This record gives sequence, structure tokens and C-alpha cells, in this order.
Amino acid sequence: MRNQLFINNEWRDADSGATLDVVNPATEEVIATVASAGQSDLDRAVHAARAALDGPWGSLSARERGRLVWNLGEKLMERADEIARLETLHNGKPIFESRQINVPAAAECFQYYAGWADKIHGETIPVKGNYLTYTLREPVGVVAAIVPWNFPLLLAAWKVAPALACGNTVVIKPASQTPLTALALADIATDVGLPPGVLNVVTGPGSTLGRMIVAHPGIDKIAFTGDTSTGREIMRGAADTLKRITLELGGKSPNIVFPDADLDAAVRGATTGIFYGKGEVCAAGSRLLVDRSIRDAFIDKVAARAKKMVPGDPMDPKTRLGAIASKAQLDNDLRYIETAKAEGATLVAGGMRADIGTGKGYFLQPTVFAGVTPGMTIAREEIFGPVLAAIEFGDVDEAIERANDSSYGLAAAVWTKDIKKAHYVARKLQAGTVWINTYNIYDTAAPFGGYKQSGFGREMSVHALEHYTQVKSVWVDLNQ
Ligand code: NDP
Repeated sequence: MRNQLFINNEWRDADSGATLDVVNPATEEVIATVASAGQSDLDRAVHAARAALDGPWGSLSARERGRLVWNLGEKLMERADEIARLETLHNGKPIFESRQINVPAAAECFQYYAGWADKIHGETIPVKGNYLTYTLREPVGVVAAIVPWNFPLLLAAWKVAPALACGNTVVIKPASQTPLTALALADIATDVGLPPGVLNVVTGPGSTLGRMIVAHPGIDKIAFTGDTSTGREIMRGAADTLKRITLELGGKSPNIVFPDADLDAAVRGATTGIFYGKGEVCAAGSRLLVDRSIRDAFIDKVAARAKKMVPGDPMDPKTRLGAIASKAQLDNDLRYIETAKAEGATLVAGGMRADIGTGKGYFLQPTVFAGVTPGMTIAREEIFGPVLAAIEFGDVDEAIERANDSSYGLAAAVWTKDIKKAHYVARKLQAGTVWINTYNIYDTAAPFGGYKQSGFGREMSVHALEHYTQVKSVWVDLNQ
């Protein structure tokens, strides 16, 4: 397990010698102590990234670059068991998710963008006058990837893979709680022979190191996923150096169930929509909007399913619900549960801290509230935990109005067998992703990102390439 900073293909301690403890949320034990970088460490990483851009990385052919990015994906899969284990140890998510979903999705992301590397090109433009005018599509430069703790490896891959494929160099800052898989990715970078400085990992607190990244004049772009308030601060901070930014922020995504849906499938969708990833998913279906005519029966079924979902040891391959990622997040979830009760919502499942028989770990029962009204705190604020707020609606227009009654707009789902209604509602929803009769489906080829205060810029797909390249116009005078 790596615990030092990775700068210019070298492992080193922070200049100050400062460190951070990493806790396993399932056992409450310190499982690693990693370096905590300061300004001089960050300067070194940015300098290495710039030198690589101006040197070996910048002069590599696009196809060769693509081959190296492809190999990152291949090596990730070769070391999938080890990396999945680290992901589960620091995040608390079930090993099943880490091994079967997160690591393969990260590998796929590298291999998807590897294919793009030699297909990113400019164009010739039929301008007036006797000129040859063409464009070059060039990398933006040094990219900082600031990554949260909920999908530490995958959300790093969403940023690093397109950045490298487009010819940029990268400094990754993982979340303090979950730095281990970004460090493992650095290890893999040396395995595949990425030149020094192309991929660097600096670990340290967002409140200090994160702010230094935002202010750093040597960084050209920040790709961020995390809290909306942090996104606002990054946007303000990036203004001083006019950095490009893409922000993938919070959500309060509505999952709308009409009475003409396949209701058994919708019950499954409502529960996986909120409980997958312990609800620590930016696109979690945290608002269940149910037609009044089926409300009680539907919520009863959702609550019954929630009660059957028992948190377990994340390292057990049979576990489907792991530990909340940290004590702070567990306290946050419990606070929202108390607020919901105080504001008059009806608790129909869960609501309590859970014990998996060890007396340790940050486990929470999957929680469902009925009778939630649109003005309640749990209908408006992102909880980022396994807490579902069920809200009723009367007709299609009210469903749309309630769904859009949020400052967020990351994702939404609609459940109905009526194809016209499904597409009508999909068009009306203010969200970057709309699922019809499904939930939480992702693919590297499909764009993902927010409307409204869920951020801007798209990750994954061809659209992400836009954010990691800039266009240069070249004019050649052909006049005799
Ligand atoms: P943050 O947004 O604070 O953290 C995300 C990343 O940003 C981490 O790497 C963090 O570092 C870093 N960071 C924190 N502050 C700054 C800053 N001022 N400048 C630059 N980088 C910074 O989320 P939290 O981990 O604090 O979680 C708080 C809440 O955010 C959660 O309860 C949840 O509601 C929401 N959240 C939403 C996510 C999403 O995907 N939509 C993901 C994660 C959280 P460090 O870890 O060292 O603080």
C-alpha cells in the first residue's frame, strides 16, 4: 500500500513531514498514514507536470499516448482484486461493488479514452480570401483533478483518462478520507511506463492543499466533483487566474413513479436508486415522487424492501450495503433523520445506526420517510446517505413541477409504460441525465453532468474531450 506523494514518478514524503490518517469506516481503525502535501510539494508536482508537457509527453505521438492510456486500464484490471480491496477498505463500500463495478468501470474509462487519443483533430475552414486556415486541437495544459470520497477511483478515472488522452498532464488530489486508490493508480502509471510528471498524486486536506491548487498559477484547469458549496468556492478562487473549471456537484434527484408503471420494477428502482453506494452517490434518487393513487401501497413495498437490506461487513462478498464513509457523514445522515422527524415526516423504515455484530463501524439502516412535503429540509437538501424522502403528486404536471422544484439538476427517473408520457416528462425534467424505467445506469460513452446548481461541463463520452482541449486557428497567406 503506497502512502507517499507521487511526483515526477518518485515517491516522497511531504517536505514538512506532515501526514494524514486514513480510517476504515467499517472498523474505525487507522489503516494507513499518508503524506500531507504543502505548497512546496504542490509546486514540485506542478513543475513536473509542466516539464512533462513541454518534454516527453508533449512530443509523444497521439497513438502512442493512446496506447499508454489503454495500458492503464489493462493494468488496473490485472490488479483489480488488490485495488478493489483498497477501495472498500477506505470507503466502506461492499467489495462486490468495488470489484465488479468500480474497478472495471474505471478500466473501461481509460480504454474508452485511449481510443480517442488519435481521433482528436482540427479542421480546415473555407475562409474568404486566399488563405489556408486550419485549426489545431491542443491540450489545455496541467489539469488538477480534485476527487471526492464516494467513488475515489472511478471519479479520478473520469478526469484523468480524458485529460491524458487529450495530451494534458495531471495532478490528482484525492479526498483525505480515501487517498489509497489514487496512490495505487500512480503505482500503475509507473508499471505502464508513463513518463515522469505525466501523472502526479498529492494527498492532503482540501481546506489547505485544495485551496493551494485552486490558486496555483501553474495549473490550467480544475476538474472537480464534490459538494456544491465547495464548487462555489472553487469557482470564485479560480477566477483570479481564470482557470478553466468543470464542476460535478450535488443532487436531489427525483424518481417519479406513475401508476401505469411496472410497479415491481419501480420498487426495485426506487430502492437501488437510493441505497446503491449507501446513497453516497451524487445522482442518488433521494426524492421518490409517487402518484397519490398508489402512494401507500407503493411506499409499503419500498419500506419492506429497505427493511430486508441489512448492512454487513464490506469485505464479505455477499454484502450489498456497506459502511457509511466516515463518522462525520454518519453524523450528518443522523442529523437529517432527526430533522425529518422534527418537521413531521413519517419514518417507515430504518432511521437508526446499525451494528453488524462487531460493535464498531459507521453503519446506518436504510431509511425511508413517507409524508414528505416539498418544503421539508429532507426534500430540499442533499443528504448523501441512504435516506429516501417520499413525496406524493396528483398528476403529470404536478409531478414535473415537484421534480423541478430543486436548485439541483443532476439526474431524474420516470417510471411508466406510456411511451408518450415517458418522453414528454423526460423533456420537461431539468436534469443532466434522465432514466426511463431504470436507475443508476452509466456508460463511459454516455455524458454525465449537471443542470442548474449540480454543476456544468460533462464527464465521460465525446463531450468531455471539449473540456480537455483548446482550439488554435492557424492562418497561412497563400496570396502570390
Ligand atoms: P467536498 O466537496 O468538501 O470534497 C470533495 C473534494 O474537494 C475533496 O478532495 C476535498 O478534500 C476537496 N476540497 C474540500 N474543500 C476544498 C476547497 N476549498 N478547495 C479545493 N478543494 C477542496 O466534500 P466533503 O467530502 O466535505 O463532503 C461534504 C458533503 O459534500 C457531503 O456530505 C455530500 O453532501 C457532498 N458531496 C457530494 C459529492 C458529489 O459527488 N456530489 C461527493 C462528495 C461529497 P478533502 O477530502 O481533503 O476535504
